[in-house]
Amino acid sequence: MTTLRISGLRAAVDGTEILHGVDLEVSSGCVEVIMGPNGSGKSTLAHVVMGHPRYEVTAGSVLLDGEEMLGLPTHERAARGLFHAMQYPTEVPGVGLEALLSEAFAARGAQTDGGLRAGLETEAGRVGLDLALLDRAVNVDFSGGEKKRAETVQLALLRPRVAVLDEIDSGLDVDALRDVARRIEALTSEASLGVLAITHYARLLDELKPDGVHVLLDGRIVKSGGPELARELEQTGYEGLAAEFGIDLARRDAEERAGREAGRGVAMEVEGPMTQSLPDDLDF
Ligand code: ADP
Ligand code: MG
Repeated sequence: MTTLRISGLRAAVDGTEILHGVDLEVSSGCVEVIMGPNGSGKSTLAHVVMGHPRYEVTAGSVLLDGEEMLGLPTHERAARGLFHAMQYPTEVPGVGLEALLSEAFAARGAQTDGGLRAGLETEAGRVGLDLALLDRAVNVDFSGGEKKRAETVQLALLRPRVAVLDEIDSGLDVDALRDVARRIEALTSEASLGVLAITHYARLLDELKPDGVHVLLDGRIVKSGGPELARELEQTGYEGLAAEFGIDLARRDAEERAGREAGRGVAMEVEGPMTQSLPDDLDF
């Protein structure tokens, strides 16, 4: 049983505080969902949990089974079992998915004995990732949906303990969304995966059954509830909640877009391989 416990987390970028004290807990086999308007800090939270160097943590803690993750470099967090599927997955020119995963396994001392290709093909088939993409550079010229399928394939093979999935549903059509959500849901029981899923759409939750739904607004969780909260938000939007908390949604949205256009979040330099701790039952 694994627990990721985020408490009192405050974080800033370029001297501006974005997260103003976030508390959240994700346990093995559970799915916690974060919803919220653009610019509320959802991706910032994901980056901070994974240790993106651009974000300065000013208070709080992120404990994985009691061990402090803050201060550890990204690859060490990954080695302990954290996984982050980015909203805008990084392109890796010159490196294919098989080579990427093979390095990841090798860095953990795991032998793949030629079985990786078969594993990749099985997982690609489960989420409808075209096998031709396995022989191309990771994410380079992939469509939005192909990137999300490729992230899901990596997730299924690397078997982290807790996965932060940032808009894993964006760019997916209805059928692909169902396949991806089903695969992730299966991992929560098969591999006791704990999931922190950031999404705008309740339809992700048709297959991926949430245990809790949390609304992040202006860097704070302002409301939590069960699956019904996701449906309710889809109907009502965030205006009511934002007005209650005195937040200008249009301004946040514009800031998030401006930042994205300036290219942030695309490149992330890490010091070592972003590998996961490996499960004992991988039979390559
Ligand atoms: P969300 O994922 O909820 O849409 P983000 O976490 O991407 O929101 O952004 C929250 C706020 O933080 C926005 O105002 C955004 O412009 C700012 N921000 C996030 N990351 C960066 C960054 N690397 N550089 C500058 N500003 C950033
Ligand atoms: Mg985001």
